[in-house]
Amino acid sequence: MASYAEFHRRSIQDREGFWAEQAKLIHWHQPCSEVLDYSRPPFARWFVGGETSLCYNALDRHIAARGDQNALVWISTEVGESRTFTYKQLLAEVNRAAAMLQSLGVKKGERVILYLPMIPEACFAILACARLGAVHSVVFGGFAAASLAARIDDARPALMITADGGSRMGKTVLYKSLVDEALKLARHPPQKLLIFKRGLDYAMPVVQGRDLDWKALQKDFANAELACAWLESNEPSYILYTSGTTGQPKGVQRDVGGYAVALAASMRNIFCGEAGETMFTTSDIGWVVGHSYIIYAPLIAGMTTIMYEGVPIRPDAGIWWKIVQDHQVDVMFSAPTAIRVLKKHDPAYLKKYDVSSLKHLFLAGEPLDEPTHVWITESLGRPVIDHYWQTETGWPLLSAQPGVEKTRLKMGSPSFPVYGYDVRLLHEATGQPVPDGEKGVVTIAPPLPPGCMSTVWGDDERFVETYFKDFKDQLIYSTFDWGIRDKDGYYFILGRTDDVINVAGHRLGTREIEEAVSMHPNIAECAVVGVADSLKGQLPLAFAVAKDVSKLSSAEGKRRLEKEVMATVDKHLGAIARPKAVHFVTLLPKTRSGKTLRRSIQALAEGRDPGDLTTIEDPNALEQIKQALHA
Ligand code: ATP
Ligand code: MG
Repeated sequence: MASYAEFHRRSIQDREGFWAEQAKLIHWHQPCSEVLDYSRPPFARWFVGGETSLCYNALDRHIAARGDQNALVWISTEVGESRTFTYKQLLAEVNRAAAMLQSLGVKKGERVILYLPMIPEACFAILACARLGAVHSVVFGGFAAASLAARIDDARPALMITADGGSRMGKTVLYKSLVDEALKLARHPPQKLLIFKRGLDYAMPVVQGRDLDWKALQKDFANAELACAWLESNEPSYILYTSGTTGQPKGVQRDVGGYAVALAASMRNIFCGEAGETMFTTSDIGWVVGHSYIIYAPLIAGMTTIMYEGVPIRPDAGIWWKIVQDHQVDVMFSAPTAIRVLKKHDPAYLKKYDVSSLKHLFLAGEPLDEPTHVWITESLGRPVIDHYWQTETGWPLLSAQPGVEKTRLKMGSPSFPVYGYDVRLLHEATGQPVPDGEKGVVTIAPPLPPGCMSTVWGDDERFVETYFKDFKDQLIYSTFDWGIRDKDGYYFILGRTDDVINVAGHRLGTREIEEAVSMHPNIAECAVVGVADSLKGQLPLAFAVAKDVSKLSSAEGKRRLEKEVMATVDKHLGAIARPKAVHFVTLLPKTRSGKTLRRSIQALAEGRDPGDLTTIEDPNALEQIKQALHA
């Protein structure tokens, strides 16, 4: 086994040699003529001239060795069903779906928008697009009609696929009616809409001539077999819009060959997932984590992937650990927000099930605060790996890489730069590298490694302007996140560069203050925002969820806990960071992907409009913020 440092060093100093080696992990119909073409910075073209297929690598390639092994296990606690597909069966389903799409005129390079709940058909449709060489764009089934319409107009799909409905917390969500609305708003709606009917909306309206029934149509293709379209490595595989936490979503365009190689290599070097093993990723297919680690990576690695429709606390807070036990899950991937939800429930659920099959639990998507990292590590008794990445990168950029070397984990840290990423922490004003222990902007010196976005869909200029112009005189990719590296080389993410609070000239990351607030033993989670202050410029304001609310029934109790929390912040960060007030709520406003809507909280606190709230998980959370501010 190589050492992590040596592995990383080689990936930067001998880029082409390193990635040529990793490229052997996948099947190439035609090998590449050039590993990297970087003649037009910052655009990197990987494995130029190579021909491959994401679908072939995910399915066909495994049929000989593991055709009867489970490829996809679908579990829905929403509708109380589960379905299992071996590699052979999944390939047959994907062939049927691909033939059906082809009959509807879907061709290589054309876009197909998927607005689907977490059902196996979503997986079939994604892989069917890959089989045809069509470009899929999955839109998270939680976006409102206007957001969906904006994505339709940007991607201009030849076809859209949806379902009659989904289910969340036992309540039906009407997908098809929302799509109808979006199609009315869109300026460039597709001619055809394919609908998978789950029997969740019997009153579903049908538009004659446009709406098509998946099940009826598919009957004609029961035994279809369709060869994979071989694509040049740099052709687009999909478009995925960023979450939009910080503003206008960007259409991230991904390639084919670089992505397949990056995912295959990440399964070996980071996630330690092997053929025949099982991976359970709790995300949604509408997010990048779902694309990379529910669908493509585990299948490319020959694993069984678990697709879960439901929430972590229904029927009870033990459901995920039951799935781990029942399916002997080897690799699990979830998000800190889910773990904080579970932390509020009885920890006995964690002891009820045998989770010893787990090699690691990986968490990403937002900062993993140290107390939560410690809590879940101790409760599970398995190593918990924080890792950091973005929709743009497609796979981790900071992480421990236990497949290369088992380095020590530090609580609250996503460890080290991943091989292939030339990570630099730069001073926000001077653009110079900051010394250890000093805060800087997390940047990547291009070329970006394989698997990262190739451009913004249809807008090369926006790609360069958005990501590479943060520092003048330097062409460098900015993540727009703050980070700090300790003397041992471990990184810590301190929040987003636009989430900074300026208190009397001191610049504080919201995350730093949130971490300090969370150090109080009775705080489950919190959000800190900066609000305008005539004297100091800005002051931090905290909204916190308490673990034990019994002491909060009186105004006196609230005041006492508020004082204690302030004292905790004083102790860990200094009085400069002390929140102006600590408001107690029972939930925080978050996007459906679990990210705190700090911008909206801040707007409310400053008496402004909270902005676009279409992806909010629970509107009650915002009500609570309003009430807390009012009181
Ligand atoms: P948009 O770019 O449209 O505003 P977004 O940044 O929320 O949306 P994503 O690409 O889903 O969309 O999220 C990536 C961001 O999530 C990172 O830039 C970082 O701020 C945060 N993040 C992800 N993983 C971690 C982690 N392990 N620790 C801290 N922050 C993380
Ligand atoms: Mg972002």
